[in-house]
Amino acid sequence: MQTPKITLNNGVKIPQLGLGVWKASDAEAEFAVTTAINNGYRLIDTATIYGNEVGVGRAVSASGVAREELFITTKLWNGDQGYDETIRAFEKSLTALGLEYVDLYLIHWPTPMYNKYVDTWKAFEKLYADGRIKAIGVSNFKPHHLQELMSQTKIVPAVNQIELHPRFTQAETREYCAKHGIAVESWSPIGGAVGAGNVLAEPVLATIGEKYGKSPAQVVLRWHVQLGLIVIPKSVHEERIKQNIDVFDFELSDDDMAQIATLDTNTRQGPDPDLMNRH
Ligand code: NDP
Repeated sequence: MQTPKITLNNGVKIPQLGLGVWKASDAEAEFAVTTAINNGYRLIDTATIYGNEVGVGRAVSASGVAREELFITTKLWNGDQGYDETIRAFEKSLTALGLEYVDLYLIHWPTPMYNKYVDTWKAFEKLYADGRIKAIGVSNFKPHHLQELMSQTKIVPAVNQIELHPRFTQAETREYCAKHGIAVESWSPIGGAVGAGNVLAEPVLATIGEKYGKSPAQVVLRWHVQLGLIVIPKSVHEERIKQNIDVFDFELSDDDMAQIATLDTNTRQGPDPDLMNRH
């Protein structure tokens, strides 16, 4: 079954579900991306800071799938923000990926304490105008960062990629993005799936999953899909890669959705974007 697509605010279509590769080495990313593409994935999410753009690029070029059928996202790292720095960093990413263009380029974090995201965005606008990027977006932007960005620049971001899972559902940012035509993409969509208290261990997810013959991870991924989010679960294991995209043949009921909503504790796993200052 083909993954449904979402149309971004510039008309570009993005698959609603893709593969994340954070914490994967070059070799792991190459394996995961190859496996994912073989199993129907067309969206791949990497970033300069992940250090695996080369592995992703190798898998893409060896896949035999036409470039225009794939949707490759990468992200500008914090230390590369600024107009000239962004242009240079983008060229490096393209070289590492071995691509002629990327489908989506994101500012990884706003890092507001350095006050550079507006200049950075102007470089994004230039690269977009030059046809080097099909869509430009941001990541980890709160409404007040978006407000500031949009008040000083021309292009409204196509995507905001944010931490989003049943423990942290981001109602305010989702509402703000919907109002401004910005698609929301969920990172750590299954809550990172490690550590004590992980959401996948919640009995309610297993109970819901039993009704449909699906795992807790599949229930959570389906929840994202039904909320209209773009979702990028990460795995470097074939069975899970296959399982995570197998969420388009069932539908959660309103009651299921309501039960999952009770898991929200409004707690992040990752840094608060206003405080994240890592270069
Ligand atoms: P996820 O919520 O995707 O969880 C990934 C973890 O869950 C891995 O440990 C994986 O293990 C495990 N897992 C995967 N599938 C299953 C399954 N079906 N059942 C049980 N466990 C499973 O977390 P991530 O933090 O990786 O987020 C996804 C992607 O989002 C990242 O890879 C990255 O591309 C992006 N991201 C973006 C950020 C940003 O700041 N913009 C920040 C964080 C992530 P294994 O690999 O061993 O199978």
